[in-house]
Amino acid sequence: MSTTELVLQEPLEQPDANLSAPVCRFCNAALCHTFVDLGMSPLCESYLSQEQLTHMEPFYPLHVRVCDKCFLVQLPAFVSPTTIFSEYAYFSSYSESWLKHASRYVDSMIRRFRFDRSSCIIELGSNDGYLLQYFIKKGIPAIGVDPAANVAKVAIEKGVPTLVKFFGEQTASEMVADGMRANLLVANNTLAQIPKLNDFIRGMKILLAVNGVITIEFPHLLQLMCENEFDTIYHEHFSYFSLITVEKVLAAHGLTVFDVEELPTHGGSLRVYARHNDDDTKPLSRRLEELRRREIASGLTRLKHYSHFAEGVKETKRNLLDFLNCAKRSGKSIAGYGAPGKGNTLLNYCGVGNDFLDYTVDRNPYKYGKFLPGTHIPIFAPDKIRETKPDYVLILPWNLKREIYQQLSYIREWDGHFVVPIPHLQVF
Ligand SMILES: [Zn+2]
Repeated sequence: MSTTELVLQEPLEQPDANLSAPVCRFCNAALCHTFVDLGMSPLCESYLSQEQLTHMEPFYPLHVRVCDKCFLVQLPAFVSPTTIFSEYAYFSSYSESWLKHASRYVDSMIRRFRFDRSSCIIELGSNDGYLLQYFIKKGIPAIGVDPAANVAKVAIEKGVPTLVKFFGEQTASEMVADGMRANLLVANNTLAQIPKLNDFIRGMKILLAVNGVITIEFPHLLQLMCENEFDTIYHEHFSYFSLITVEKVLAAHGLTVFDVEELPTHGGSLRVYARHNDDDTKPLSRRLEELRRREIASGLTRLKHYSHFAEGVKETKRNLLDFLNCAKRSGKSIAGYGAPGKGNTLLNYCGVGNDFLDYTVDRNPYKYGKFLPGTHIPIFAPDKIRETKPDYVLILPWNLKREIYQQLSYIREWDGHFVVPIPHLQVF
């Protein structure tokens, strides 16, 4: 799901206003420090048809910077939301594990904050109603906001009222004028895709009821750095947050984080809970203090620590290429498993194409017969592995590696091995 959320704000008038001197999307300081430069890449989920292989393919710089004032790690938002809309139509409900995550979230919110028929739940980036449906089933009023008419239509058919709108200060003010205020305001896995971050958070402040609760989920920068998850960087993810930075962003708009949870989703995510500054009904949790301390101890408030990250990324590339070169020179065959967005960042950055991987496979039939963007590796159904018996299977969605070992345990029949590239190259 991580790569497939939709951008929730209106297109910027000049999305790449001044690429030669980019500024921080939160604090406006000049961005002079590279976090990691992954070179030029196509949009990571723009799978190509056979016919498109002969066409020009757009590549964009994947040069991530870190702000030395607020430590927001970020990419310029020069891929227009319109482009992403056309390429990223995605229905959250297609993922069973994601539905379970949503349903557990709803139960835990109701238990903890005692929402009932008099409450109003609002989700920003509500997609096809994958989450709000569970509130509605329990009789708790819920409204979604999503700019993509096609997914909103599915939500409405499911009984989830949905406003088809980009979200920001203006939409929030209109909603309040229409009598809406959120007792629970949900922005799960949307914040990374917001180009105008301050406008979005200003909108959240306006829409939040007195004593209301905001929850925001996002992949945790600390995990990305500790686990070398550089392949989770894509053009569609504009911002990469630590707890410390998200607290600063919310504080600038009169919101206080009062609790945080660490989640296993997307290679390690945070769920932060926020409230109005003057809401004294929700004391700060101990785990908030604990995580803040851990982030500081890990170096997230020191610029030097951020500059080390890129070295580890380069070493990962060299190790992967060493392995692939060796394997090919000794006559081995290598196939990929999976065609996730993160695989495309990895393969494009490392320059791994058909010269190393004969093909990859994916369980999503939509991708069969298509080709990976940039590297043009063909995608087949998983049976191809049994037919061709490759010596090595390179697992691209490393977050699912345990599941994949089980599904593909049969490669042992011909002495096949698994290769996992992240966090460090491992061959099993
Ligand atoms: Zn900044």
